[in-house]
Amino acid sequence: MSPGYVHRIYSVFNVSIKAALDEEVLTASPLAGVKLPKRHKKPKPYLSTKSNAAMSEHLREDYRDALAFGLETGLRPGELCGLHSDRIDLDRGWMLVAETFVKRRRIIRPYPKDGDVRWVPLTDLACEIAERRIGGRDESKGCGFAHSDGLPCSGVLTFLTVRGRIMHPDTMGWHMNNAAETAKVPRRSPYTIRRGWATRAAEGGLDAFQIAEILGHATLDQAQEYVQQTPAARMKLVAALSKYPQLTVLEGGLGQTSDAKGGSGAKSGADVDSQTLALDRGRIRRSAG
Ligand SMILES: [Zn+2]
Repeated sequence: MSPGYVHRIYSVFNVSIKAALDEEVLTASPLAGVKLPKRHKKPKPYLSTKSNAAMSEHLREDYRDALAFGLETGLRPGELCGLHSDRIDLDRGWMLVAETFVKRRRIIRPYPKDGDVRWVPLTDLACEIAERRIGGRDESKGCGFAHSDGLPCSGVLTFLTVRGRIMHPDTMGWHMNNAAETAKVPRRSPYTIRRGWATRAAEGGLDAFQIAEILGHATLDQAQEYVQQTPAARMKLVAALSKYPQLTVLEGGLGQTSDAKGGSGAKSGADVDSQTLALDRGRIRRSAG
């Protein structure tokens, strides 16, 4: 449930609890210590596919591929930069999100932020990019970075810079800023790629549960925020409001006298007919559109 929804439930419940305390039905409030989720008033910025397309023209191919892959998979920047080639199953079109690049310590951590590894499905474009980035490299070499669990590495980093160095989230941000400035689109951080994926997925009809699963969220509230403002959610409201169309009184209708033109009296039959005809035409034109 969204934070706003939780607040709404809480406030009603809180009134009941307060009354129960006043009436001495309860001796203490069971709501003490309840932490409510934060409500975000401003929508969080995300990288739109439109902005990405404009930026792509000004990005080097290594970063262009990384951004496109992020928009197909919703990875966190550290997960994208630490993605090991042996975690990608191109035959099945799935990847296991596990290894993460920890930029502060320049090491590989064998699990993502929330500690849980997760499977993420790959689109055709994601498979194509992964295949291109890995190329013909010797995957048995290892990534060259220390793994925090001390275990040996059995894959190479999928995304490297054209010079063969690790793709650092900060450098990615720098390249994104430059491309955004040249393309004259809003500047976006590497984290907004992940939100761009979530926005796309929600607009395409993926539900909050599936979005949270792929993003690796333990709760649904963040995913719910993406689903709340989709065209589908809007259409649902539009459909609900149009179920009972508002009735308006037509000037010159049966049993009506018009006083719109200084009380000129009832319109002639011919006038009413032409008005009805015009309305019918309008209706036909609208429905054809
Ligand atoms: Zn490694």
